[in-house]
Amino acid sequence: MEGDEDKDNLSSVKHIVVVLSGKGGVGKSTVTVQLALSLRQAGKRVGILDIDLCGPSIPRMLNLQSKDVHQCDAGWVPVYADRERTIALMSISFLLENVNDAVVWRGPKKTALIKQFISSVAWGELDYLIVDTPPGTSDEHLALVEGLQRYSIDGALLVTTPQAVSTGDVRREITFCRKTGLHILGIVENMSGFVCPHCEECSNVFSKGGGEELAKVCGVRFLGCIPLDPQLSHSLEEGRDFIEEFPQSATFTAFK
Ligand code: ADP
Repeated sequence: MEGDEDKDNLSSVKHIVVVLSGKGGVGKSTVTVQLALSLRQAGKRVGILDIDLCGPSIPRMLNLQSKDVHQCDAGWVPVYADRERTIALMSISFLLENVNDAVVWRGPKKTALIKQFISSVAWGELDYLIVDTPPGTSDEHLALVEGLQRYSIDGALLVTTPQAVSTGDVRREITFCRKTGLHILGIVENMSGFVCPHCEECSNVFSKGGGEELAKVCGVRFLGCIPLDPQLSHSLEEGRDFIEEFPQSATFTAFK
């Protein structure tokens, strides 16, 4: 698509939130989906841009992995998760011939695709664009921050589990945000305790409070904890029809 860099498909997007984590598997995509659902429930129109090029998981979580994107004059039409078109998604998964294909790309190719995602997805009017990123601070993150320079990003949401092995990596994310001028909205501690579905007693499987402690030490807002929820995990694995069937107990409320 020639001349795409000049397109301004984000001009009707009111808020941009970037979801970051130091490690993989801590629940970044889960928090992205939960945040999108919470915002939808609050009557907002939401877009999700999945820039985890080597491990895109949102299409599967939303049961959209078999969908394709189409072209229109303004660029790529994102895939909509519901009939009312309140949640739109763009992911590399939709561009691969086979969803299981591995993406083995060097930095410049990743950078080019992310810049194209920023300029060429015809989101239309959105209240929120949530960007799900790969773990760490790599080419994808730099390409995103550079590509979004002309827009005002609300900030980054940092996801961690309570253990020191994850919070340590989130410190590096904080440094990345400070170096690149990305405002930090706050830290979410995921997998924070397990509430037994039978007796409702909470066990701190991975300890508790590491995210809150880190927020205090780094002078960042702590947004809240999400417990380990077997029902949520099951829904994400199966990619259920998400709007009616996602467990409401786990719906993320920190932004309400
Ligand atoms: P990341 O995006 O950080 O790699 P994911 O969001 O893909 O992590 O989550 C990793 C796995 O953990 C997924 O299988 C997801 O279903 C599960 N998971 C994440 N958060 C929770 C939670 N609060 N309760 C239960 N399972 C969770």
